[in-house]
Parts: sequence; C-alpha cells; structure tokens
Amino acid sequence: MLLPQEIIRTKRNGGSLSKEQIQSFVDGLVTKDFNDAQAGSMAMAIFQQGMETREIIDFTMAMKQSGDVLSWPELDGPVVDKHSTGGVGDKVSFMLAAIVAACGAYVPMIAGRGLGHTGGTADKLESIAGFNVQPSIAEFKGIVKDLGMAIISQTDNLAPADKRLYGIRDITATVESIPLITASILSKKLAAGLDSLVMDVKVGNGAMMSNIDDAKALAQSIVNVANGAGVPTQAIITDMNQVLGATAGNALEMAETVKYLNGSLREPRLHAVVVSLAKAMLVSAKVADNEEQALTKINHALSSGAAAEKFNKMIHALGGPSDFMEDPWRSMERANYVQDIIASDHGYINGMQTRDIGLAVVGLKGGRTANGQQIDHTVGFDRVLPTGTLVNRGDVLARVHAKDEDAALRASQQYLAALDIGEKQADQVPVIYQTITG
Ligand code: URA
Repeated sequence: MLLPQEIIRTKRNGGSLSKEQIQSFVDGLVTKDFNDAQAGSMAMAIFQQGMETREIIDFTMAMKQSGDVLSWPELDGPVVDKHSTGGVGDKVSFMLAAIVAACGAYVPMIAGRGLGHTGGTADKLESIAGFNVQPSIAEFKGIVKDLGMAIISQTDNLAPADKRLYGIRDITATVESIPLITASILSKKLAAGLDSLVMDVKVGNGAMMSNIDDAKALAQSIVNVANGAGVPTQAIITDMNQVLGATAGNALEMAETVKYLNGSLREPRLHAVVVSLAKAMLVSAKVADNEEQALTKINHALSSGAAAEKFNKMIHALGGPSDFMEDPWRSMERANYVQDIIASDHGYINGMQTRDIGLAVVGLKGGRTANGQQIDHTVGFDRVLPTGTLVNRGDVLARVHAKDEDAALRASQQYLAALDIGEKQADQVPVIYQTITG
C-alpha cells in the first residue's frame, strides 16, 4: 500500500494521480487504511485541484469494483437505466421504468434515498404498505427477468468505497465537486451492469446545479467518464425551477404516478421529461431505431395499459398489494390534516423557490435532517399549480398534507413565501434544455 499522505500530497499540489494511487485510495476507503482525516483531506484536495477525465475514469472503476458488480447473462434484451441528479417532485423513475420495460428493455434500477431538500425514489416506494426496497440480489434479478423492471434501494455492498467517501464529503464541505459527483454517481450505476445509461441532469433553483454552465459541465463529465468506462451514455439537461408535476411528498407522488400511468392526469412538464428520457433510453438500448419510432412505442405502452400493468406487477412482486393501480390509497396512509393554500392576490405565478418547497416537505417530516431518521410518508403538497399560471384572489395554489393544523400552517406559509406572484407574466423557461452526447 502506498502512503496515504503521499497520495494526498500529489493531489494537493495539483498533480494527476496514477491508476495505482487511485486504487490505493479506494482500497483505503474500504479497509479504513485511509482514516477519516486522510479521506477528508483527499476529498478536499480533489475538490480544490480537480481531476482529468482519465483520473475520474480510474476512480469510478475502482469504486465500482469495491463491492458487488451485477451482470445479466440470463437476459435476452438490453439492460438500460436512468439516473437523475435529483429534484423536488421528481417521480420520473416510476413511469419511465414501466414504459421502457413495456417496450422490451430491462430496467434494473437501484435508487437512492432523499438527499437534502430532494426526495428519494426508495423513500417514495416505502409509502406503500408491504413494499420491500431491499430484496436479496437473487430476488431483484428474478423480478427484473420476469417483469423487465424492478426498483430497489442501494444495497450495503454496492460501491462501499463511495458510501464511506460520501458520508465524509457530506461533513467536510466537499459534495459539490464535478469529479467527486461524477465518480460517486457512476460507480453505483455502473455496478448495476448496464448496457447503456441516460442521465437526467437537473438545473435550476431546486437542483444541485443552479446554473446552466455548471449543469453542462457536470453532464459532459458524466457522459465522458461513462463512455470512457465502456457504457454508452447521454445526458439530458432538464429544468428544476419548479416542482416537477403536481405533487411533492412521498405517498402523494406515488398517487400521481398512478394517475400518470392510467392517463387521468399527465402534467405536461412531467410528461415532457418522461417522454424525452424514454426516447433516449429506447434508442440507446436499440429497442427503437430512432426517436420517432421510440415515441410510437412510448405512446402505445401508455395507451395500451402495458406500462401501468408492468408497474402494478412490480409493486406486487416486491411485497406491495396486487391492486395498487386500481386504488393506491388502499395501501398508503393519508395525512391527518389537509388544507388548501390560498392566493391572497391576483397575478401570475412567475417563479417558485423550489428548494424552499423541498425544505418545507422536509419540515413536515417528509424528508430527513439526519441519517437513518424515520420519515412521514403521508405529508407534502399536491394540486401544485405550475409557474405561468394566472391566479385570482381566493384560488387554490396547492394543498398541504400535514400531521396537524400547526404543521400545515407553517408549511403553507413557507409555500406562499416560496412563490413569486407578479402583475405581468414573466417569460417561462423550457423544461428540456439540451442533450449532451459523447
Ligand atoms: N448523488 C450521488 O450519489 N453522489 C453525489 O456525489 C451526488 C449526488
């Protein structure tokens, strides 16, 4: 083993790390031969000095190999996944996995928990009574083979080097670094044994990247590194300057997913993101020759009910009810207290402080303020009006779902403070910005 302090010194002085030095660092993360101080110093050195693409590829591959790596020789079709950098109301994974599986690709999705103000796919699934987000790998593989999709949470032995480093980054102000984020995300995604990947890089006031230049830089880094690691990958930059869809909060987002899949409510911005990611996944998986053909398949998966059926079967296969699509509220608890949030003035909803709305959900106990906390799946917001909407005094801007009247009042005030309502309608930003390819 190389001396940790010498590896840290190389990066601190702006040098590039050899493959051997990177391997030694990653091994040291798992064995703890890099103690917390050394791992934190190394994260800070990378944060300050950056990494070349070659270093990020070596770092990603070493972290990927630090634990279980799945492969899918038993499948007769392409294995594809999507990853999002996270947002508020982002329930895209559910409909996307169901649509893509209904079109013939396999989607083994290993999803995260809520992080900061953003919601987590695994937490949302746990709103459903009986749903098990941590099946054995054998069960996970069996469900993917049978149904074409399964969504579970990260297992302890998936990229354990990243797990330790992430915990250290979280408390050493070293999260927002493009090389560290790239290697962290991709080590976990590539360990799932994918044939191709599509990234949803969110930009805006509810995203990790608040401006387009940073989002493009992150998207380009992820695309370069994943392609360099042998997994064809493209990134789509999408807007996160408002809640995505009409809900934010765990059970409420699952209920919106049901409405999306059965066609009773497809909020247009959410639909645009789902369709654009689904097209990219189907083309990259070679299930469709081009975007036009992909769109025909997506529309058929939705209109025929095939995507809804896939989703329903997956919920049941992982311990949930057999009739989730019929009535999701039979197997999810509702909040005790539901209250309208009312406009006090006439005007256009010109903007939303989306991060603050995410934090209001956390404040309702729908997200965590410390690792491992229990959350209240019932709480959050629904009937969220999108930006650009003209409202009159007395109109309902959204509804809050809370444990009690006090919590609802606090969250309503936070919601109102997060809205920018003006006399003149402001220009609206697009929901899909651009696609970054290798
Ligand atoms: N998500 C991750 O998994 N890692 C990061 O570094 C940031 C977001």
